[in-house]
Amino acid sequence: MTHSFDALIVGGGAAGLMCAITAGKRGRRVAVLERADRAGKKILISGGGRCNFTNLQCRPDNFISANPHFAKSALSRYTPADFIELVERYRIPYHEKTLGQLFGDRSANDILAMLLEECRLAHVSIFLGTRISEVTRDKDFVVRAADAEFRAPVLVVATGGLSIPKIGATSFGYDLARQFGIKIQEPRPGLVPFVLNGKDRSELCDLAGVSMEVTAASDGQQFREKMLITHRGLSGPAILQVSSYWSPTRPVKIDLAPEREIVAELLQQKTPRTVQSLRSRVRELLPNRFADRWIELHPPSGWTNSALEDWEKEVHAWVIAPAGTEGFDKAEVTVGGVDTDELSAKTMEARRVPGLFFIGEVVDVTGHLGGYNFQWAWASGRAAGEAL
Ligand SMILES: Cc1cc2nc3c(=O)[nH]c(=O)nc-3n(C[C@H](O)[C@H](O)[C@H](O)COP(=O)(O)OP(=O)(O)OC[C@H]3O[C@@H](n4cnc5c(N)ncnc54)[C@H](O)[C@@H]3O)c2cc1C
Repeated sequence: MTHSFDALIVGGGAAGLMCAITAGKRGRRVAVLERADRAGKKILISGGGRCNFTNLQCRPDNFISANPHFAKSALSRYTPADFIELVERYRIPYHEKTLGQLFGDRSANDILAMLLEECRLAHVSIFLGTRISEVTRDKDFVVRAADAEFRAPVLVVATGGLSIPKIGATSFGYDLARQFGIKIQEPRPGLVPFVLNGKDRSELCDLAGVSMEVTAASDGQQFREKMLITHRGLSGPAILQVSSYWSPTRPVKIDLAPEREIVAELLQQKTPRTVQSLRSRVRELLPNRFADRWIELHPPSGWTNSALEDWEKEVHAWVIAPAGTEGFDKAEVTVGGVDTDELSAKTMEARRVPGLFFIGEVVDVTGHLGGYNFQWAWASGRAAGEAL
């Protein structure tokens, strides 16, 4: 059986649904082809089940891409205020958690239900459980699935990245790009916990659950947020953020007590300088168990002013070389993807393959933690939807 449409959108996630709504409202006959048994599964698990759907402080420098200018056009034409207007129109209660991050008060399902209702109003056809076996092009794009064939002059790829394969991530988007001769920036896990090497793990990971505010830095970027020790390494927002910039050749530098002086007070005291006095000072600034472990592993080389000052420097510049990351199974996003040089920043259409569009996470644009990835999905989906 052959279904003909004006546009086919492969992937019914955040970007695909936004694109379908936009094009549908412009009168296009749109089909969303979704592999899973329901659309928007990642929206449902996002933000701890509450969906951090945007960020009030969204700026181009919250995004990572081989071309840092690429995302500007779409982001400026569909802003956080535009998505908030939609959320408010549906009377979805929300709040700002921290650092401009907006979350639903109730459940991520509010956001998904809103998008599906918008799809219904825009007469979008959603085909669930669609297993695509082949895409070819004659005059139209022809998408073959197990028991149906879909045809349209326009094909939008919105299949997301490789993170969380167990809820349906596939390499479809990258494979299709390669099939049409479109370059890819090598995908790698981002917003992902680090796994420590054997020595660091045996020294620290029994403290799993301990967390503290740090500044974590790699590749010239730094983030001041919480760090969490896990059973295998390090996580927490500061680590997730910096992981998107990390590569095995780049160490990670962690300031364990940002903007705080540790030994200055001890140096002025008349009382003897001892491990106990240092420990009680460090315990004022860091969680007790971590403070004790740090001093055990990194005792000062002496008790002179300069020895203690050198000791403090290490607390502000702890250099770690992670053994790796927890990989795509645990990554919130995929860094890299379809090379932005191949796409129009205005429409997301492939320059060399007219009619073929890439939107959302499959593109080499990756947001920081905090609602930025959805904002990119909405904005790029909208940009393509307006061009179909
Ligand atoms: C645990 C977790 C929590 C997150 N929380 C947040 C958050 O709170 N805020 C935020 O901004 N970002 C968050 N993110 C990131 C955000 O979910 C993604 O960046 C965003 O969903 C990307 O949208 P997308 O439409 O490009 O891809 P997706 O939402 O991943 O959608 C892609 C769709 O394509 C479908 N698909 C894949 N392959 C095929 C195929 N071969 N055929 C047909 N369909 C296919 C998938 O089933 C999926 O429905 C989170 C990610 C994870 C993993």
